[in-house]
Amino acid sequence: MRDMSQKVKKKHYYRRKDVVTIEEDATHEFKGHRNLAVEELPPWTKETKTTRASRKAVSRSLNAFLNTGKGGTVYLGVIDNGTVLGLKLTLYQKDHVVASVQDLFSRYHPPVQSHRYKVKFVPVFGEGSTEEEVLRLISKSDSDYSDTSQRHRTHEFRTYHYCWCDKDAFAQVNMGVLSPDYVIEITIKPWDPDDPHNTDGVGTVVNQHPTHEDEEGNVYMRRQASVVKYSLNDIAQLTRQQVKEECEAEIRRLKTEIASLSCQSDAEDQNMNHKS
Ligand SMILES: [Zn+2]
Repeated sequence: MRDMSQKVKKKHYYRRKDVVTIEEDATHEFKGHRNLAVEELPPWTKETKTTRASRKAVSRSLNAFLNTGKGGTVYLGVIDNGTVLGLKLTLYQKDHVVASVQDLFSRYHPPVQSHRYKVKFVPVFGEGSTEEEVLRLISKSDSDYSDTSQRHRTHEFRTYHYCWCDKDAFAQVNMGVLSPDYVIEITIKPWDPDDPHNTDGVGTVVNQHPTHEDEEGNVYMRRQASVVKYSLNDIAQLTRQQVKEECEAEIRRLKTEIASLSCQSDAEDQNMNHKS
């Protein structure tokens, strides 16, 4: 029994109502909802002329983490002050989340390839429940929902209306069936210029990370704990600065090489003059 609990403890998990030890910063963002794309924000949460938006699409933060090249993680189910609430998800709803991240990134310009990110469902344990109980609930819930014909059903994205998987989850709740809670961690990996996936078609000296436009054609950057919208001019300026920094060493090396080559050719010319 002791071995079992030690094994369980090694797993990454959250406890409901706990405040996480990390803070929102340049690479961490908390969200209490899972409205990924802008169209998934319910109209009553959107910004108007008189009210500030109470809710922003997750997409903006993901876009910002991609565009700094440094990556980062968005934690869905953790609210602004770092308190873990979790999100109840059936197996079909987990499928939905994975497919909707894929759908969202396919709409970016350029699209985001699957090796650049990962989606992880981390269990949340309630105050009164043991880890074993929750792990049992997860495995039971996942096996209850493993009807493969359902798992092939297309999910509805790009809308704030409920998908079939959400309606199915509500029906389960009405029948008294509990779904486990999770924190969804969507992680953008830092840009790795040496990853063969990232070098496709790149024949330049500097393999810089691409700048992605989001589903609305906007470009965001992460600055400390906030997300900032960038104009074309800002992007151009930033790119110039980054290329300058990354190229300086290379330029110095090339200058030295050119200088030594011209020395050589001068010497050869003088040799030729002597001979003639
Ligand atoms: Zn769905």
